[in-house]
Amino acid sequence: MNYERLEADKKDILLIDDMAVNLRVLSAILAREGYNVRKALNWQMALTACQTVLPDLILLDIMMPEVDGYEVCQRLKASQLTADIPVIFISALDDVFDKVKAFSVGGVDYITKPFESEEVLVRVQNQLALRTAQLEILKLNAELEQRVQQRTSELEKALHKLQGEVTYRKHLQSKLLDIALHDSLTGLPNRILFIRRLEKALNSAKQEPNYHFAVLFLDCDRFKVINDSLGHLVGDELLRAIARRLQACLKPVDTLARLGGDEFAILLENLTDISIAIKLAESILQQLSLSFQLSRYEVFMNASIGISWGNKDYDRPEYLLRDADTAMYRAKAQGRARYYVFDPVMYQEAIQILELENDLRRAIERQEFLVYYQPIISLSTGRISGFEALVRWQHPIRGLVSPIEFIPVAEETGLINAINTWVLRSACQQLSIWQHYPVTPEPLTISVNLSARLFLQPDLLVQIDQIIEETKVNPAYLELEITESVIMENSNAVRIILQQLKQRKMKLVMDDFGTGYSSLSYLHSFPLNALKIDKSFVKRMQENQENMGLVPAMIGIADSMGMVVIAEGVETKEQLLQLRSLNCNFAQGYFFARPLEQQSVIKLLAASPQW
Ligand code: C2E
Ligand code: MG
Ligand code: MG
Repeated sequence: MNYERLEADKKDILLIDDMAVNLRVLSAILAREGYNVRKALNWQMALTACQTVLPDLILLDIMMPEVDGYEVCQRLKASQLTADIPVIFISALDDVFDKVKAFSVGGVDYITKPFESEEVLVRVQNQLALRTAQLEILKLNAELEQRVQQRTSELEKALHKLQGEVTYRKHLQSKLLDIALHDSLTGLPNRILFIRRLEKALNSAKQEPNYHFAVLFLDCDRFKVINDSLGHLVGDELLRAIARRLQACLKPVDTLARLGGDEFAILLENLTDISIAIKLAESILQQLSLSFQLSRYEVFMNASIGISWGNKDYDRPEYLLRDADTAMYRAKAQGRARYYVFDPVMYQEAIQILELENDLRRAIERQEFLVYYQPIISLSTGRISGFEALVRWQHPIRGLVSPIEFIPVAEETGLINAINTWVLRSACQQLSIWQHYPVTPEPLTISVNLSARLFLQPDLLVQIDQIIEETKVNPAYLELEITESVIMENSNAVRIILQQLKQRKMKLVMDDFGTGYSSLSYLHSFPLNALKIDKSFVKRMQENQENMGLVPAMIGIADSMGMVVIAEGVETKEQLLQLRSLNCNFAQGYFFARPLEQQSVIKLLAASPQW
């Protein structure tokens, strides 16, 4: 169907009237005014005309046979196609009733016959102008609608983008939070997150009397050795493997955290009994004792575990962790690869150690240390060949404190460096004084114990050189005693230092031999001059009369490696005889003399004893 106008700029008017004469008259008036006029004699023709081209206006006669004007109008209004076309009724009937009916069926105006042509034209113009305006409004409305739709979809797009941005930022934020609360190496919670969870557990314990929890503090034994000898990459690989193995021992609700270095912590919640925590510690120790198959090495690793039992009396979560840490240290002190359950007495002891530490700092300033000397006897001559310098602390209140008590604390705090170099200097000064006495046997050696900590000091050699220079002692008479821990903990660096000491002609003694873990073949790779057999072996020698325990084997091996043997802790004549029969080179012990003050040493030298 063609909806376009016949002539685009001309308005199209359809006349419907059964009287041809009427059609002609009206048509002439309108055509003169430039309208495009079409004519229909009945409903059928009108419908066809509308279907061909939609008129802009219809002039409709009322009185028509078959379908009258009202009916035509009603039909036009009923069809969607023609409903909007304005209809002006034209009729000879001049009756109010008909006018009302004409409007009620949808007409917009009414012209009475006979009509003035001006009136017809004015009314036609009015309706056409109205219609144009209506169409304009409709068009504007449609445009407006379209713009609103466009704007809405733009807004929707912007909103969508904004929502995407919000989601991205939320994701970023949670990622940052994740980084802040986790250890990057193992992906485990870190100390901050662990303390948070611990705090929650503590709060639960404060609210519910039946809520129990425990903290396990785990520290790897000898991890540093592996890290130093095999490198950090292997160390990292091992830490990840340890983390995985620990995780496998736990339930999903338990929290495993890496606190830093080789330290891990575990939070166990909803426990009924501490025995559950102990069982877990046992199974962890068992699992960790199995070898770790890393990409290039097979590594063995043990750990020590401290356990603290959570209860509502703790003020802060950190205290629980501290107590588990203290218990862990106790496990280490008892020989490692074991667990220890915290007991409040330990806290008291920890406090005492703290006090000792403070006192020790003051002791250095106030010079409260003394050196005692214990003679070392040559078993071939039976005479004194040297002395071992043993430090003592003259505590203002406690009296003489044993090095067994304060040396570990001094080592832990780093105070050992100052104490040990002071002992070395005093001992060398003492030796140079004794060397001027006529009673002093030639040569007389002095032995000084060096702590493992000292070997971490970069200027150790410089300090020793300086002391030798100051005191003018012959370095060949100076014996330095080290323990196995020295070479186990930082072997490569230590090997170099020991070689340089040897170049300076100083003697190197492996002290407390047999109590550490080092193998003899490993020891052999260090430039040692002598082995000092630990007193525990000398003691057992007597209990085991026939084969004298391990001492003969130790002497034999030292001999084969070209090392001199010193036996310590000789307390009886029998022990002396046994050692002599085994061709042990030197001995020291209460049987000969206890560690002595320097004045007593002079008397002893003057007496020139022989055993
Ligand atoms: P050590 O180097 O093995 O010293 C021998 C220890 O055995 C000394 O204990 C000595 O008094 C004791 N002793 C000697 N003869 C006998 C005996 O017949 N029977 C028994 N039961 N014990 C005997 P002390 O003086 O208490 O020293 C203990 C440890 O403290 C030393 O063991 C040494 O490791 C350390 N130490 C002492 N002085 C120093 C020092 O100046 N620096 C460092 N780093 N450590 C020191
Ligand atoms: Mg010693
Ligand atoms: Mg010893």
